[in-house]
Amino acid sequence: MESVPFLLAGRPARGADPLPVRHPYDAREVGRTSHADPEQVEAAVAAAAAVADRAAALPAHVRAAALDHVSRRLAERADEVARLVTAESGKPIRWARGEVARAVATFRWGAEEARRWSGEVQRLDTEPTGDGRIALVRRLPRGPVLGITPFNFPLNLVAHKVAPALAVGAPIVVKPAPATPLTALLLGELLAEVTEPDGPGTGLPAGMVSVLPLPNDRAAELVRDPRLPVVSFTGSGPVGAAIRRAVPEKHVTLELGGNAAAVVCADWASADDFDHAAHRIATFGNYQAGQSCIAVQRVFVHEWLLDGFLPRLVAAVAALRTGDPADEATDVGPLIDDAAARRVEEWVDEAVAAGATLALGGRREGTSYAPTVLTGVPAGCRVNTEEVFGPVLVVAPVPDDSAAFAAVNDSAYGLQAGIFTHDLRTAFTAYRTLRVGGVVVGDVPSYRADQMPYGGVKGSGVGREGVRSAMEDYTESRVMVLSGI
Ligand code: NAD
Repeated sequence: MESVPFLLAGRPARGADPLPVRHPYDAREVGRTSHADPEQVEAAVAAAAAVADRAAALPAHVRAAALDHVSRRLAERADEVARLVTAESGKPIRWARGEVARAVATFRWGAEEARRWSGEVQRLDTEPTGDGRIALVRRLPRGPVLGITPFNFPLNLVAHKVAPALAVGAPIVVKPAPATPLTALLLGELLAEVTEPDGPGTGLPAGMVSVLPLPNDRAAELVRDPRLPVVSFTGSGPVGAAIRRAVPEKHVTLELGGNAAAVVCADWASADDFDHAAHRIATFGNYQAGQSCIAVQRVFVHEWLLDGFLPRLVAAVAALRTGDPADEATDVGPLIDDAAARRVEEWVDEAVAAGATLALGGRREGTSYAPTVLTGVPAGCRVNTEEVFGPVLVVAPVPDDSAAFAAVNDSAYGLQAGIFTHDLRTAFTAYRTLRVGGVVVGDVPSYRADQMPYGGVKGSGVGREGVRSAMEDYTESRVMVLSGI
């Protein structure tokens, strides 16, 4: 099998150390690439640092045209890209198509923001010392960005690092997840198309983008490189915490995990309400086999609704089709690897041993874990307190809204919460009291629009992503005072 090249300063390159990529469903090799050699990493970082000033001065129309091109080419190759996402991540093909559509939009949105990105003029004559002066306030790149991404959205989370960087004119080095580098490298191929397409001085300068597969210890070294002053990390809590400790002087954004909750409030009580919430919670507790940072994990239901709601939820979960992720009908595919499936099994077994009831599921077969619903889980069990990152729903009754919101907040994490209510006051109470980055009213916590600010509090991270938020993150304001005017 031919080794897929990675992107080194806008050009294809290969390293000496092979990196085979296996299908999580049946372990067959679906492709291979290579880790970047140390000299290649050095070349990529040196090129990013060397090009930073030129990149920041690139005209908006050049940056927007590059972003539009990548968006268009992703759309043209959507089917191929979606199949690749499925092959290396095990994500069911229907969801992979959705991810590609989102990445198309993320780049298009980046192009639009690049055209809008301007700054402001502030008057200074509000004080006598400012007579005859104004200030021009613009946000300029802090410097080259290091983007580190996880396996579960191998395309769109790379897009969320790259599009804002191009939009503001910041060079970026991306380190994709070891299990899923091939999609990022396909994106790298499209980025090569916009790198000096008609020779030096056209398109993006070489050096603006690199996509480098690296083993974790070498990624940790790269984090410490002072020529990359911004680190944008999406991944697990422990790795995020280690990065923050390693480089306290850097501008670090951490998009980490969670144990997202959905609340079925007292007023969400009609048969239609039940069916809607059951369908949405079943779907988004199990999409990507629960391997999403905002997959529903904890479900709090008003106690007098529980008897009516639980059978509907169990039926909706039971109706999900599990199996080969390449099959168009599959809802739930495998976990990323054997260790992940065994960990989910261990945590569910632990809860059952502690007294929880299995309403559904609780079986592992290789890398696949059956969609599972648990009730009566003792508070301290890991399926409650940790991020399961598997197809497991934990359902618990609550006596009223405030108890439900307190239960949502009783977590080391705080990414998003979903509140099923028709009542505006309840919605605003949730918005005010929940310690999360986003409250979704009338739906699951798993809703994310790529242009909106997205991120968490507590153990779920620091900072916000979403194209516009990341553009702010990658830049800092610089003021020019004009006097005597
Ligand atoms: P992970 O933390 O194991 O790996 C993430 C990335 O970090 C990979 O590219 C990995 O190679 C790299 N890495 C590992 N050790 C490193 C080190 N010491 N220094 C630098 N880089 C290192 O996470 P994962 O298993 O790939 O992804 C799952 C996690 O990501 C879950 O916790 C999930 O909730 C989280 N996630 C968060 C968001 C969000 O936006 N908040 C989105 C998707 C996934």
